[in-house]
Amino acid sequence: MKVGIIGLGAMGLGMARRLDQAGFLAGVYNRTAAKMAEFTVIHYNQPAALAAEMEVILLCVSADKDVLDVVAAIASTIKPNTIVIDTSTVSSETAKQAAAQLAKKQAKFLDAPVSGGVEGAKNGTLSMMVGGDADVLETVRPILASIATRIIHIGETGTGQATKAINQIMCAGINQAVTEALAVAEAQNLPMDKVIDVISGGASGNWFLQHRGATMTQGSFAAGFKLALHHKDLKIAQALAAKTLTPTPLTNMTLIDYQQLMANGFGDEVSA
Ligand code: NAP
Repeated sequence: MKVGIIGLGAMGLGMARRLDQAGFLAGVYNRTAAKMAEFTVIHYNQPAALAAEMEVILLCVSADKDVLDVVAAIASTIKPNTIVIDTSTVSSETAKQAAAQLAKKQAKFLDAPVSGGVEGAKNGTLSMMVGGDADVLETVRPILASIATRIIHIGETGTGQATKAINQIMCAGINQAVTEALAVAEAQNLPMDKVIDVISGGASGNWFLQHRGATMTQGSFAAGFKLALHHKDLKIAQALAAKTLTPTPLTNMTLIDYQQLMANGFGDEVSA
């Protein structure tokens, strides 16, 4: 199957490299063309041009409007039975809208957001939560296995994104707990490398501490998951919870902190 990818950002680039190494990648599109330079497959200058020639299209763009814009563009040229897999983190409503638009062209859609950070994308060890037709997932599972080690079908369209919102709520709490704890540790003049090392192997060990603890305490917030993107995800999670009147005090508090950080110019720095 000819696989194309749209979006070569922090996550898309790692996924595209993995698809390429596995021999699946046939075409790439990125809005900023320079990011396509390293790939020897076909470079497209429009999403619609890529969609006209691919059988499987992976999306990895930023937010809800971006996904809907790209889906509107590819719907103009997409062939029947093409499978579109959206790995961006957006709302369940956006997933349903995208699926409905593509269904008008007899194209299939899976919402397939991922967790595991830029390291997971680079190493092909992502966790992928999938909404949509289970048979469609089975068709593309061998392709997705090159980018994710855990691929779980959750349910109907939108349930992948709902699961990702749950993941992002947990990340908010973990980030708050880890940063608060490390600030206390620093104030105690504890040796931070040893603190992180020993705690990582205990009951409160977690991905964020292991992957970002050392760099954070050294004041480095290099490429990873942008704070502004996590803010976007928590707004989605907050709206999801509000529908069932489920309280989300941690998410609400984190949103306030992130808002303040973004207002101070830290939106592009790493939150995870
Ligand atoms: P990123 O580095 O900011 O990259 C965003 C990508 O989307 C870029 O390739 C950008 O193109 C493209 N894009 C944005 N809007 C577009 C539009 N309207 N039309 C066409 N292309 C568009 O973001 P990222 O970290 O890769 O994240 C991508 C998605 O994955 C987000 O939904 C994010 O929440 C999710 N995610 C991220 C992580 C992580 O650790 N980073 C983990 C899990 C999930 P340009 O290059 O031209 O800007």
